[in-house]
Amino acid sequence: MARYIGPVCRQCRREGMKLFLKGERCHSEKCAIEKRNFIPGQHGKARAKKIVGYGLQLREKQKVRRVYGVLERQFRITFEKAALQKGITGENLMQNLERRLDSVIFRMGFGTSRAQARQVVGHGHIDLNGRKCNIPSAMVKVGDVISVRENSKNNATILAARDATAHAPAPNWIDVDREGLKGRIQSLPKREDLVQIQLNEQLIVELYSK
Ligand code: SF4
Repeated sequence: MARYIGPVCRQCRREGMKLFLKGERCHSEKCAIEKRNFIPGQHGKARAKKIVGYGLQLREKQKVRRVYGVLERQFRITFEKAALQKGITGENLMQNLERRLDSVIFRMGFGTSRAQARQVVGHGHIDLNGRKCNIPSAMVKVGDVISVRENSKNNATILAARDATAHAPAPNWIDVDREGLKGRIQSLPKREDLVQIQLNEQLIVELYSK
C-alpha cells in the first residue's frame, strides 16, 4: 500500500501543531514546530487567513490522515466502512484507524512512531494470532494476540523502541507484556483513549457528507 514519503515535519507545520509523527524528536528542541511554527512555502509567513467552513473541515481531515499515515483513497474507504457501522460515524472512523496493526504496535511501544511501527510490521516482524502478518492496515479485534516473531525478538529497532517508550503508560484496551514483546486486545478503544492531540472528527463527517 502506498504511503507518504515526503518531508514529515512539514506536515505538522502545515497544520500549525505537533502531530507527533517522528517519535523522540517530537519531544526535543529539534522539533520544527518549536523552531519554525509557520506554514511552509514562500508565503508561509504572510498574515494567516481566517479559516472557516470547508477549510476547517479539510484541515481536520488532513490532520487525522497525517497522524495515522493514511493516504486519501484509503482514508475515504475507511470512512465509508465507518459510515456503514452502527453507532457514531466519527467515533467509528477513529476507532477503525486506531485498530490498524501499525497503530496497535505503536501503542504497545514496539515503535517510537506510527511510521516506525508500520515499518516493523511491513518488514515481517509481527505475528497476529500466531501467524505472520505484514499488512500495516490489518484491523485487530477483541481477543487478538499480537506478538513480535520469535526470530525478531532481538531486533535492535524493536528493543530500542520498547526501551524508549517504557515511561509511556500502556493503553487500557491492550494487555501489553513488554518483556515478552506481545499483547492481547482486551476491548475496542474508546474515543477518549485515542490520539492525544485535539481533533474534531465530526468535521470530517460533515466534509464527506456533502
Ligand atoms: Fe511534528 Fe515531530 Fe517534526 Fe515536531 S518533530 S514537527 S512534532 S513530526
